[in-house]
Amino acid sequence: MIVNMAEGATEREISHVIERVREAGYQPHVTRGTTRTIVAAVGSGRRHEIEALQAAPGVENVVAIAQPFKLVSRQVKPHRSVVRVSGVPIGEDRVVVIAGPCSVESREQLLDTACAVKKAGASMLRGGAYKPRTSPYDFQGLGLEALKILREASERTGLPVVTEVMGTEDVDLICQYADMLQVGARNMQNFNLLRRLATLRKPILLKRGPSATVKEWLLAAEYLLAGGNSEVVLCERGIKTFETETRNTFDLAAVALARDLSHLPVIADPSHGTGKQSLIGAVSRAAVAVGADGLLIEVHPCPERALSDGPQSLDFAGFERVMSGLREPLRCLAEPLLVPHRA
Ligand code: PEP
Ligand code: MN
Repeated sequence: MIVNMAEGATEREISHVIERVREAGYQPHVTRGTTRTIVAAVGSGRRHEIEALQAAPGVENVVAIAQPFKLVSRQVKPHRSVVRVSGVPIGEDRVVVIAGPCSVESREQLLDTACAVKKAGASMLRGGAYKPRTSPYDFQGLGLEALKILREASERTGLPVVTEVMGTEDVDLICQYADMLQVGARNMQNFNLLRRLATLRKPILLKRGPSATVKEWLLAAEYLLAGGNSEVVLCERGIKTFETETRNTFDLAAVALARDLSHLPVIADPSHGTGKQSLIGAVSRAAVAVGADGLLIEVHPCPERALSDGPQSLDFAGFERVMSGLREPLRCLAEPLLVPHRA
């Protein structure tokens, strides 16, 4: 339930409503806008007591939250959230590009990539230290060594870094080195991990699971917000469909839908979303056109030698081309033909 306070409601009236929400057995979550305050009653309690707040002083109206997710919903917080990752704002006007290799493979590979993506205009660096690989025989990541290299690259370039956390046991260590923690697609519904990450004061990049609906994705984000961490950025990275020509099917509409339903920033990962170097530029532009707040793009000094995700990784020149393409305007609309009007 949402209690919309009237414009000009006093602090006393707001505090009273918060108190009543607690008494009714709910957790109050308060959003203060420039002119209005919203008090959301989250959890399970005595609904009729919240409905009755309609009559409390300073209350404009009481409405039910239509969706199963609450704190991530725009009903509770109509204005868009901005998540700051060590000074880089995600969710403001400018599109934030996060680039780097799928996996950190060596110091030289990462430092070269970090410098190249920075030069081309990226604002953040990515790189996997702990890799969720489908086969146990594939490269699993350099672990702590990779974290140290990521930190060094960040210090040299000034780019904040994001890296994946696969299990609760790695959280503390990764927090010492990374500016943002990525929850990978395969872990989107790892509820123990989500509950642990909810207690941190670190931004989280939450990827959509390959078989998850938008609702399930937003409910996974709800775990983070309900547990106390509202620094969450959503990332669409493609879903499983019958199509086999692309690695995943990039769900463009889900980017727009997630931004419609939630105030959280939404970014797009065209690398995993397509699996093909040749499609990254087009899908990046499309994602920005539907409102993506940022892009996550895999870049490698020599994709043919990459230890993971080579076929979808851009080399430095390819990344520069994608970045230039993002600066070009979309195509012009055709003008209607001037056909003489017949009476
Ligand atoms: C990655 O970002 O390299 C990755 C493994 O992504 P996803 O979890 O989307 O597959
Ligand atoms: Mn990858």
